[in-house]
Amino acid sequence: MALTEFSVIGEFFKLDAAYGHSPVIGIGDDCAILDVPAGYQLAVSTDTLVEGVHFLPGSDPVHLGHKVLAVNLSDLAAMGATPAWVSLAITLPNIDEPWLAAFTEGFFALASRYSLRLIGGDTTRGPLSITINIMGLLPTGQRLTRSGACVGDDVYVSGAFGNAGLGLLKARSGAADLTDVDVAAYLRPQPCVELGQALLSVATSCIDISDGLSADMNHILSASHVGASIEHSAVPLTKSVVEHVKQLDDVFWPYATGDDYQLCFTVPAGVDVGSLEKEGRTKITKIGVIEEDLGLRLVQQSGESRELNKGYEHFDE
Ligand SMILES: [Mg+2]
Repeated sequence: MALTEFSVIGEFFKLDAAYGHSPVIGIGDDCAILDVPAGYQLAVSTDTLVEGVHFLPGSDPVHLGHKVLAVNLSDLAAMGATPAWVSLAITLPNIDEPWLAAFTEGFFALASRYSLRLIGGDTTRGPLSITINIMGLLPTGQRLTRSGACVGDDVYVSGAFGNAGLGLLKARSGAADLTDVDVAAYLRPQPCVELGQALLSVATSCIDISDGLSADMNHILSASHVGASIEHSAVPLTKSVVEHVKQLDDVFWPYATGDDYQLCFTVPAGVDVGSLEKEGRTKITKIGVIEEDLGLRLVQQSGESRELNKGYEHFDE
């Protein structure tokens, strides 16, 4: 017998009772009710992933459950927030129990890593899409924003760039091997939650890279009314991406491709960032400097400087 909407919620969405910040009222009533602890503010973000736009048709639901949550956790990371609560709306062509079981397996495996509590769920019938509303906690008055970068600040990034873009190309050809750094970056992005928290007391601005380093860094520059130069030779690229760039003969490619979910942030020159990698549990690299001249410049080894403004476009738009 097919499950009704209500039993779907009961079967698959209540699996999180063992961990996370307890809501006053959680799943099962008309609304959830939350107590924000004294001395904290709520950071809230929403993101939708649509099949054929943000993920490939027929994607493995375990990976999808991870990725949809990772993408939203990445937004909390960009503000320095600690994950607390999440609600989940799934539109499915039909109620597919094995699909839901696999999706929730991926979703809850990542949620439990951050003690993130599911407080509401909804299912409707239609083309596959998933919407998440995520909530995190910030000590009152503390936050990372896009608007605080100052002339002279150093520009840093976490991890490496271009792997998810290359992973998408590989996944389109059917690759699913998670030991491949590119495929793993595309299918199983790891949000930089710990780094975001560690940056709260250090960084002047921060953003997560969803649409490409160039597009997202330009958001920081516009919001902060500054410009920047990036040293191409300093930008962390894996062997596979360097090889791909050579094949394409397009030095801009790693800056224009999206889905990496690394953080880009600015730190005043001279501030000690020595403990950030340990606290943030990820590699960080200085790639450039904030300047007064507006715009984003890529400086190549030859000394040639070119304007960077290309962004990522979702693959079927
Ligand atoms: Mg973002």
